[in-house]
Amino acid sequence: MMKTADLRDLAAWIMLTDAPAPDLSPESAKKADFLNRHGQNLKKQIEDAASREEAVLIIDLVSEEPGSGFNAELTERAGERMKAAAAALAGAIGAEKIIVAAPEDISWAPEGAEIVRLECSPVLREDSALFHILETGELRSCPLDRAFPSQGYKGLPTVTVGAEDLLRLCAMAEPGYTETKIVIIRTGDGASVAEVPTGTTVGELLKAAGADAPKGVLAGGVTGTFTRNPESCAIGTGSMFDSVRAFGEKDCMADQTARLMKQALDLSCRKCVLCREGSWHMAEIFKGITEGKGKKEDLDMVMDIGPLITAGAFCSFGQNMAACAVSSVECNREELLTHIVKKKCPAGVCSAFSKKTYVIDPAKCTACGDCIDECDEMAIEGKRKFIHMIDQDMCTSCGKCVSACDEEAIVVNNGSVKVPKKLTKVGKF
Ligand code: SF4
Ligand code: SF4
Ligand code: SF4
Repeated sequence: MMKTADLRDLAAWIMLTDAPAPDLSPESAKKADFLNRHGQNLKKQIEDAASREEAVLIIDLVSEEPGSGFNAELTERAGERMKAAAAALAGAIGAEKIIVAAPEDISWAPEGAEIVRLECSPVLREDSALFHILETGELRSCPLDRAFPSQGYKGLPTVTVGAEDLLRLCAMAEPGYTETKIVIIRTGDGASVAEVPTGTTVGELLKAAGADAPKGVLAGGVTGTFTRNPESCAIGTGSMFDSVRAFGEKDCMADQTARLMKQALDLSCRKCVLCREGSWHMAEIFKGITEGKGKKEDLDMVMDIGPLITAGAFCSFGQNMAACAVSSVECNREELLTHIVKKKCPAGVCSAFSKKTYVIDPAKCTACGDCIDECDEMAIEGKRKFIHMIDQDMCTSCGKCVSACDEEAIVVNNGSVKVPKKLTKVGKF
């Protein structure tokens, strides 16, 4: 089948696992994750490309969660080893063209490879979006137009591999291969990298990283999922587990979700209406919650439209980003409601809730009017003999008026100062 075979006969022809592992216990199934699923798809792609002419090999170093640094980490660890794997793969399929899509120049590109600089991930791991952007320079996902197993770049038989696939191929070529997964673990203290057997739980991983009792956990990024129970969430070889993030008391879950949904909006190729409109709505809803404009119904809206987007989006990106929003509401509902109902950000992150509220103490104001000239925002209302008032919608909390008042009537309200709702005569409130 293979045109040339090296790297231990292409890792003993992807470990010869055509059939599922004979022992189908949950533990065994988890540990044979790559070989049973992704590895088998890759095997079919290789088989198909090897049997046809004009095969293309694409090494995709851009499809990752924004800011995860996952591919850079792997490249630094083992660029040269990956080069050997890429050469073996190119030989196996008789590749007539090798393309490396990378955010920057790399030193280990296979001989003759064309390096295409792409700054960011095209719709994450959606291969058809990668093909389209390589072909046309435009971001567009066309998963329904591509035929399995290997119709890809310019309609040619294409094998697409990421950095981790190449590294895994190297590991398979060595004796005693056991399936592992490299994971970047982010906690409040920084990031660390671990290589763990698949089947390890997210809980075990976080414990080893010193994050025993996080208030929230996100497996993956914008297409990942928040989980309430990291002990029952087992590391598989899927991209969702490239990174695991533990959140502490200083993190705001509304703010974190709003950032993820903004990424979703930016990353969507906008081809299908459910993802295009849905990512906009999700981004607006969570942004509104961080800005103090959230309503309880917003959470119901996420729970209602999320599954619809997941069911109807054309590709896995749209499906998963909606599921990510839903998982945030499921796992972080209480904190989101604190923003919505109590107008508070428990982590003190959302600036909308930390704005100082300046008020004029009606017991002290003599209606002299000195403060009015000091306010550039024209937020102070008042007239002769009437207690002056600050319009909270116009006030930017700059505090300039405080020093203009000789009566020390302008104060930050901690809840103890009652103010009139309309202009009231001095001494009558
Ligand atoms: S789900 Fe989103 S990313 Fe995928 S094709 Fe539709 S618009 Fe594009
Ligand atoms: S400067 Fe002070 S006393 Fe004079 S109107 Fe303003 S708040 Fe009242
Ligand atoms: S705090 Fe600033 S914006 Fe607000 S009323 Fe005073 S001067 Fe105007």
